[in-house]
Amino acid sequence: MRIDILTLFPEVFASHLNCSIIKRAQDEGLIQIVMTDIRDFAADSYRKVDDKPYGGGPGMVMMPGPVFDCFEHVLKLSQEKARTILLTPQGKTFNQAKALELSAEKRLILIAGKYEGFDERIRTGLDTEQISIGDYILNGGELAAMVIIDATVRLLSGALGDEDSARDDSFSDGLLEYPQYTRPEVFRGMKVPDILLSGNHKKIAEWRKQQSIERTKKNRPDLLDPEKDK
Ligand code: SAM
Repeated sequence: MRIDILTLFPEVFASHLNCSIIKRAQDEGLIQIVMTDIRDFAADSYRKVDDKPYGGGPGMVMMPGPVFDCFEHVLKLSQEKARTILLTPQGKTFNQAKALELSAEKRLILIAGKYEGFDERIRTGLDTEQISIGDYILNGGELAAMVIIDATVRLLSGALGDEDSARDDSFSDGLLEYPQYTRPEVFRGMKVPDILLSGNHKKIAEWRKQQSIERTKKNRPDLLDPEKDK
């Protein structure tokens, strides 16, 4: 999978994308991440990419010119058909099902905003899907891009050491994950449930499923609502 990121702050990505699973996925050729600085497409020598909003109001708005030019340049960097995502708090909320959907793509282009956001013509004039990572306002789309990349890449075949760990994760079957324990068997008086030490795999699987259901009912009853995706 090729992932292009259009951003005004490429340096923000360095630490996250260069460690752990995402780094390994790049080293092993599962993904290629290419950063392009929108500011390189500014029309003037001041590298100006934002301006005051028409009609007045606070803050600055990202101008359409540099974003369109940057996008058109990035599109041509690969022949692969791309799915383009505009990061905006006004988009559909990202979730595990969307991560799974994106993990099937050969190429993603993520456009991160800044300031007061995008000139509306970026939204209406580029063929993009608008995605939000939650009902709150970040200072920029960089963290949102990293969240989407992180959640999507771990679902690629070969990205995780053990393929089963993504299968058992919360949300993958519509439920929260069951409680997990590791050594020691007793920690400050708190004991690992006997069933997990029994060696009876069928009973352990039943216990885990039951725990998942109970935990979901208690913490996230909305996940069990059959109307939730309608
Ligand atoms: N004024 C805009 C609004 O109310 O919709 C918010 C602009 S925000 C300060 C700047 C940029 O951060 C946005 O253009 C977007 O790229 C990114 N951003 C902020 N919150 C986000 C969220 N919840 N999900 C995805 N991107 C977000």
